[in-house]
Amino acid sequence: MIIQKSTNPRISTFDPSDFSFGNTFIDHMIICEYENGKWGDLQLIPYGPIGFTPAMMGVNYGQACFEGMKAYKDNDGQVFLFRPEKNFERINKSAKRLAIPEISEEMFLGGLKALVDIDREWIPQGEGMSLYIRPLLFATEEALKARISEKYMFAIVATPAKSYYTAPVSVKISDHYSRAASGGVGAAKAAGNYAASFYPTQLAIEEGYDQIIWTDDCSHEYFEESGTMNVFVRINDTIYTPKTSDKILDGITRDSFLKLAERRGIEVVVGNVKVTDVIEAQRNGTLKEVWGVGTAVVTSIFEALGYQGEHLELPRLSDEESFAAQLKNDLVNIQTNNAEDPFGWRVLVEENVYSV
Ligand SMILES: *Cc1c(COP(=O)(O)O)cnc(C)c1O
Repeated sequence: MIIQKSTNPRISTFDPSDFSFGNTFIDHMIICEYENGKWGDLQLIPYGPIGFTPAMMGVNYGQACFEGMKAYKDNDGQVFLFRPEKNFERINKSAKRLAIPEISEEMFLGGLKALVDIDREWIPQGEGMSLYIRPLLFATEEALKARISEKYMFAIVATPAKSYYTAPVSVKISDHYSRAASGGVGAAKAAGNYAASFYPTQLAIEEGYDQIIWTDDCSHEYFEESGTMNVFVRINDTIYTPKTSDKILDGITRDSFLKLAERRGIEVVVGNVKVTDVIEAQRNGTLKEVWGVGTAVVTSIFEALGYQGEHLELPRLSDEESFAAQLKNDLVNIQTNNAEDPFGWRVLVEENVYSV
């Protein structure tokens, strides 16, 4: 790894009690370039712009994918990643689907640990605080030719993140737009999937909703995901979530919730979640909770569903009654080293790994 430390670090200007998530970047970043059929040296360098032309293939033809993950600082100042090998597997799965060359474990996990280690001071400590990390892969060849690019960049950037708290949201069940199609790229964390979701989401916001529950592209009869999160439904005391497929992203939070629910002895059904069954359960009072899960906010609880012009309210459960709240609490306690980790999910970021 080539290491170039920042000569004018901004860490002394960083106020952990007052910063803007997503706009504040840590002092360093990882980059690695691919050309002539192979990945070059991994570089740990000062964060900043890199020059490209508008003829860069990634922005013209959309060969671009990313990951979203977090590092947490415990009460003693130790830093942990959460199931990072899952993100490594997934970025290569996304890369493969987009015909982007796969990366090595050393590039991903080695780069990640070095970056988090060198900028560990940037990780805010305390409840809900973390460092949000964005590994990404994109085509960099300068060519207006609609074919697979011959040059790429792998990069990792990171921004401090705070508070998980999000107010309950109301969501519109989509009966027209789709996020993903059968045989498409829905299971890849492709940048273009986000682009395709913005317009329908904007329309839902104009109708007074906060987010969309995506349904299948064929019949719009089955739940798929909620915004950019996986979705869970609780009817009586059973929780339901759609099975992953080429249309549903295999979320690490989703997988963790399933394992934590099993540990709590909650009955879980992974399979089709039919829109009309959920509406029916809302009408007969057996629908208890609907929520989304993902790395960014862990859990987003829904207060109402919109379906074909109808506004259906959901019960307001206390944290003691809510499976979503209990499972989130279990997960966050493991992530932040406030509970035992029977699954072996936490990965300690050792000090000074970047200098070896
Ligand atoms: C990233 C993402 C998720 C959540 O995945 P996590 O690994 O839990 O963060 C769910 N759905 C979509 C579409 C996503 O892009």
